[in-house]
Amino acid sequence: MNWDTCVKTYLEMILNGCPKEWRPTVCQYCGTSVGFHRHGYYNRMLYTLEEILEILIFRFKCKHKACNRTFGLLPSFVERYQSAAVDVQEQVISELDNGVPLRVVAEQLDLPTQPYSEKSLWRWKKKWDQQLKVLEPIFWQTVLSRVPHLTLPRGSQSPRSSRGWLFLAWREVRSHFTDSLEVGCLQWLIHLARLQAVPFPGQDLSYFFRADGGAGIFHSWSGWHTGRDSGKNPQWYILPLLVHQADSINS
Ligand SMILES: [Zn+2]
Repeated sequence: MNWDTCVKTYLEMILNGCPKEWRPTVCQYCGTSVGFHRHGYYNRMLYTLEEILEILIFRFKCKHKACNRTFGLLPSFVERYQSAAVDVQEQVISELDNGVPLRVVAEQLDLPTQPYSEKSLWRWKKKWDQQLKVLEPIFWQTVLSRVPHLTLPRGSQSPRSSRGWLFLAWREVRSHFTDSLEVGCLQWLIHLARLQAVPFPGQDLSYFFRADGGAGIFHSWSGWHTGRDSGKNPQWYILPLLVHQADSINS
């Protein structure tokens, strides 16, 4: 499935079940390519900016005997355990970045569902603050390798936060990565994270962000490398296997 698939296109594509070309090639747990069994699907309610939709998530089971784990094939517009689509979260975070008070953002978030509490919205912001610490370098590296002469406004037009810079840069470079004029920055970041095996909090590999605030990334299949532990010159290791995939991020 293309990373920039929107919810509507996704629903059309799965009318006859999981398309063959969506089958995973690498296990997200053990990293092997032994193969996968289909393992049914589950239903998810998804709150988008416009409506509530029910989507199916297809599941696969790794054939590697030592692994044998099951995972769902999540599209980039949805995160595990999150009922709100990524676009909804992006809108909230952008407004908070623009200085709109949390109370006002919560009141104005006009979703076709029960209103989200201010607490929920704040949790989204904190979660993305954490995730972006890790994803920002990957974002800039990928953007600048494709658009090396990117120019961004200075002075009074400058965004107020590093997140703001990301969103601004994304609007400038989006056409280099997708034909979709709508697809949001966070959706792309989720795609990048999944390509590079950067686990998100709340997902099965949630020990990426540890209780003590340290953050790490898969170093090898035997363990984690943490930025904090590595002293003044943290190295961020990306799985070699997945670096290969990252080379073809836009293919
Ligand atoms: Zn596996």
